Order: sequence, then structure tokens, then C-alpha cells
Amino acid sequence: MFNKILIANRGEIACRIIKSAQSMGIKTVAIYSDADVQALHVKMADEAVHIGPSPANQSYIVIEKVMDAVRKTGSQAVHPGYGFLSENRLFAEALEAEGVAFIGPSAFAIESMGDKITSKKIAQEAGVTTVPGYMGLITDATEAVKISNEIGYPVMIKASAGGGGKGMRIAWNDDGAREGFQSSKNEAASSFGDDRIFIEKFITQPRHIEIQVLADSHGNCIYLNERECSIQRRNQKVIEEAPSPFLTPGIRKMMGEQSCALASAVGYKSAGTVEFIVDGDHNFFFLEMNTRLQVEHPVTELITGVDLVEQMIRVANGEALSLQQGDIKINGWAIESRLYAEDPYRGFLPSIGRLTKYRPAQEVSNDFGAVRNDTGVYEGDEISIFYDPMIAKLCTWAPTRETAIAKMRDALDSFEVEGIGHNIPFLSAVMDHPKFCAGKITTAFIEEEYPEGFEGVELSEDILRQIAACTAAMYRVSEIRRTRVSGRMDNHERRVRDDWVVSLQGYHFPVKIAADPNGSTIHFDGTTHRVSSEWTPGKSLALINLDGEDIALKVEKRPSGFRIRFRGADFRVTVCSPRQAELTRLMPEKVAPDTSKLLLCPMPGLIVNVAVRVGDKVHEGQALCTVEAMKMENILRAEKSSVVTRVNALAGESLAVDDIIMEFE
Ligand code: ADP
Ligand code: ADP
Ligand code: MG
Repeated sequence: MFNKILIANRGEIACRIIKSAQSMGIKTVAIYSDADVQALHVKMADEAVHIGPSPANQSYIVIEKVMDAVRKTGSQAVHPGYGFLSENRLFAEALEAEGVAFIGPSAFAIESMGDKITSKKIAQEAGVTTVPGYMGLITDATEAVKISNEIGYPVMIKASAGGGGKGMRIAWNDDGAREGFQSSKNEAASSFGDDRIFIEKFITQPRHIEIQVLADSHGNCIYLNERECSIQRRNQKVIEEAPSPFLTPGIRKMMGEQSCALASAVGYKSAGTVEFIVDGDHNFFFLEMNTRLQVEHPVTELITGVDLVEQMIRVANGEALSLQQGDIKINGWAIESRLYAEDPYRGFLPSIGRLTKYRPAQEVSNDFGAVRNDTGVYEGDEISIFYDPMIAKLCTWAPTRETAIAKMRDALDSFEVEGIGHNIPFLSAVMDHPKFCAGKITTAFIEEEYPEGFEGVELSEDILRQIAACTAAMYRVSEIRRTRVSGRMDNHERRVRDDWVVSLQGYHFPVKIAADPNGSTIHFDGTTHRVSSEWTPGKSLALINLDGEDIALKVEKRPSGFRIRFRGADFRVTVCSPRQAELTRLMPEKVAPDTSKLLLCPMPGLIVNVAVRVGDKVHEGQALCTVEAMKMENILRAEKSSVVTRVNALAGESLAVDDIIMEFE
């Protein structure tokens, strides 16, 4: 076995790989850029080598720099993780030339599968069903329109070199095809340095289901079942699970066998993933093969008990697989939620900044359930603009899908992240969504269920009543503390009032509290709740036993109450005396400033172009300007017909969130 391996990656995946290597007794080497001097993967590895400035194209993806680090440390093998150099044929070749093992497939397999057009052709020859479409390259927008008409709308315009959901646009008509062709091409050029474009049929009501394969250099190949990754935004996965609630054993076997046939056709060794799009009638079509460890591999590990990183290392070391197809079972159900530094209330746009608080859900593992959190950050860390905005992958496992989802809800409720925008409220909302819970999902789920964007969650009156009970009890505790601190009275407990009005989400609940040494009983008009908790003022997470059930509320103290976050809802709770409540109700409501005549920059980013000028009449849906952030081009469109009266930004300018790009009549 290798003595020392280098991990040519960063973030959670570098940490994940280090863990498996360490458990196998292998020494690890981290590489890091300027931005990552203090990063977790650097702290976890036995050695670390600095390889350059923060932008990945000056550090993590510069083959020569990584090769230097390999030589300097005498590493015998390199694990590339995902992204970066993981699917770079030249890197695999450079390592091979120096007798260093690449923990992945051969350069030939990477090259064949790395290109979406080439891989589609190979798949077809290997008897794998592929998405209907045009297999050639498309040179200009006019041709894109012509081909799209031949295929029939809707179509998917794709970069042949694409990955990570980038360089891809759906078009429903000629205008869309023309615009989509141009933005795919631009995005592909800036992300992949390769702007070749092709077009295929867009499969409607699709589910994304992929097969994990594992092959060795002795000609053995097995499949480790499927993962379903249909919950996506911008063609990027957010929630994944294994197995898929949609597959039958027969279809699973067909997909598994076709995947192995494709892997064998290119002499595949190592772990790899064959992605399919599946329509409502269980027809499945090959999308692409990812010749690397996949982001969502933990859900497969949780249901099969196989450590995929360990298997990859063993295969790279020349060992034959010790597992056979018959050894691979499906045990229980696993769900993964990707925690992103992105703001779900602003169209999931990336958010950057310091993680002032980072307290992940507690990891556990037993026969009834498991919580696993793969992460690459820690409290106080900085989320920069340079890399992928994923901060953690929270996974749960349980014997059934229903219990795995319930575990995920609880884990998300207790996961604390502050300082940056993040998607925990959104993830919680999905875990509570009846369609998700019923397994009725397609890749359009997010667009269809949140057509106006995610606006938080409306909790039912019953749940609001329960939260009112909890916050009333908490408010009483903080009032006792406050009066004690100010030293205004000695016999404070007796003087804190026991009747309050709790206001939240438009409801006003008059309550009466009876406290005893073990908790409090909260009397509403007609109902009663029993609350006990160890919560004390200042704690940002309240773990509460409410009528025998545990619930976790995220809490921030506010004047006369709290800000509470629970299950995707984020709201103010005020607690006051009945008299104060009466007076507050008479106060006029604050009116938010009118921004409807402004185009605000929705994210920190770079203006790529401004498509309109002062005096232009614009109509609803018209493209106004393009902003690039984290390598994605985002077209900002007019919300209604109007006339442009002012343009404040020029192409090439960097803007902050809410900077005014232009103004309308
Ligand atoms: P998965 O299916 O595992 O989510 P993705 O295709 O979404 O895989 O990509 C995983 C990660 O790798 C993302 O962080 C993405 O940005 C990155 N990535 C994928 N392909 C490429 C590529 N060709 N060039 C650069 N980064 C890539
Ligand atoms: P990437 O390399 O960026 O991961 P993929 O080809 O795997 O690109 O596509 C990413 C996602 O886009 C898929 O998971 C699926 O949701 C959607 N998608 C891609 N091609 C099609 C298609 N032809 N029809 C419907 N959806 C598609
Ligand atoms: Mg893909």
C-alpha cells in the first residue's frame, strides 16, 4: 500500500479523503492557495504545501505546481477529489510519466468521457440509451435555431466540455435558442476554456438518477445502486438520496448493467458515476459519465456500507475488487442536503463573508439512524469568492425514507450558521414539502413549487401556537434574568408577570404561564402546552421538550421578544403585557422603501454587459444586463414594461449587493 498520498483539492472533499487515508494508515499531503492558509484540510493533513495565489487557475488547477508539490513531498499517489484537476487527462498523464499513481481512471477513460459529445457516441455504441439530439458541433446562433427546430422545442443547449451545471440553457423557442446559445458559449469559454456547443432534446418532467460504478484494473466492474438527484436549482444538485423512490428492481438492474457496459467499453477503473435522465414512464437516457468521486457519494456509502475513497485507493494500488455484485445490498435510506453559502430568498445567489457562527448538527451512528456531516469549514472561517460556495454536506440515514427525512429535519433545525446567507431554511422547507415527502419529484421541483422564488415558509396555526408557548416560557426566563441583573428587586421570581400576549406571524395569543421547578405550563384560551428546556438567555439554539416531543428553535434576542427560525420560517416574536399589546396594535405599520423602479444588483459580481441605454423602452422579460458571479452568467431582466431613465453601471465594473444598476421611469 502507498505510504503517502497527496490530495489535489480543498474544502470538504479534501477533508473527506484525508479521513479515509488516515484510517488506512496512509500519510496525507494537502496543497493550499493564499486564501486557504488557515483552511481545515490544511490543518487535518500531515503535511501541507503552498501552491500559489487564491484563484484556482493560479494554484489548484496548475498542473506544474501540483506536480512540484508531489515531487517535493515524495507522494506516491494523488487523489484529485471532484472539480479542479479530477477530470483532466493531462494531469493523469503527467503523474503517470513520473510513476505516481492517479487515484482515478486512465487518461483514456477521462478523455473519452470528459467530453459530452464523445461520451454520448461511445455510450450509443456500447448499447446505452442516449438523449435524442444533434451529435455535431454548432457554430453560430442561426445554426442553433435551425437545429433546435429540427429536434423540436424544448431543447437543452449544452457545452460539450460542461460540468457543474455550467454552460447549459433550456430553450423553448427561437429567441431562447439564440440567447441560450450565446450565454452557454460565453459561460463555457470562461469556465472551461472550451466553447464547443451541442443541442439535445430537453426531456420534460425528468428525474435525475445516476448509477455508482466501481471497477478495478483486472476487468471487474460492479454497480453500487443508484442515487436520485432531482432536487436541483440552475441544473445543480441540492438534495440527493439513495436509493431512488422511483426505481423498480428491474429498471435498477438494467441501468446498472448498462453503466457497467459503458465503463467496460472505456477500460474504466476506479469509482465513477453514470448519469441518466429518467422520464415519467421509466425510460432512461444517458446524460454523461463523471470519471471521479461524486459530490453526493456519501448517500451510497450510507446504504451500502462501502467506503468509496478506500476502494479508489485500493484500485489505484493495483488490487482487485474484493466485492462482487452480489455483495452489494440496499440497507435503509440516506438523504444528503448540500449546505450552500447562497441566499435562498434572493434566487439562490452566492453569498460570501465570515462564518461568525458554525455549529453543525451532532454526528451520530447507530442501528436506528445516522447523521453525517462532511465539511471543510469551521467557525470563524471565511467563505471567499474564489471557490465553490458549498460549505457542508449534511447526510442522514435511517431504516426508511420517512424516518431519514425526519432525521434530516431535526438535523437542519439544530444546524447553526451565521454571518453569511445560507440555504438551511430552504432545505428545511423541502424536507417538509408534501410532494418531496411523497417522493413525487422532478428536476423542475424547485421552479414549480417556488415559482416566485423561495419566500420562507408559512407555519400552520398549530405550530405557531406551539412556538408561542415555547417563546413565552423563554421570555419569562429572560425577564427573570434581566430583573436580576439590574438588581431592581430581590424576590424577582414572584414579580415577573404571568400573563402575556405573544405575537407572531399576524397572530396574537394571550397566554398565562404557570412555572414549576421542572418547566412551565402555558395556558391558551382553551389549550395547554407543557414546556421544559435548559435554554438560558444568550444561547442561540433552544432545545425544548414540548408536550413530550423535542423541538429545536434558533433564537436571537430582540427588544421585547426574539427572532425565531424554525423549519424554513424566519420571523419575529414579540412578547408583551396585555396593555402593551393593546397599544402596539394602534401603531401605524412601517412602509418599506419602494425599489420597484430600480434594478438592483442581486449579488456581488461583475457586470459583463449592459444591453440597454437611457431612453430605451423595455418590455417584461427583456434582458437588461448580465452579471457574472462565481463563474455563472446571470441575465437580469425587466420585471415590467418601462423606460430606462438612468444607467449607473458599465461593463467590467464590480458591484456589491443592492448597488443600483439602472433606474426606470
Ligand atoms: P456532481 O454531479 O458530483 O454534483 P457536478 O458536475 O455538479 O458533479 O460537479 C461537481 C463539482 O465539480 C462542482 O463543484 C463543479 O463546479 C465542479 N466541476 C465539474 N465539472 C467541472 C469542470 N469541467 N471544470 C471545472 N469544475 C468542474
Ligand atoms: P453537468 O456536467 O453540468 O452535470 P449534465 O449533463 O449532467 O451536466 O446535466 C445537469 C443537469 O441538467 C441534469 O441533472 C438534468 O437535471 C439537467 N439536464 C441535462 N440534460 C438534460 C436534458 N436533455 N433534458 C432534461 N434535463 C437535462
Ligand atoms: Mg452532471
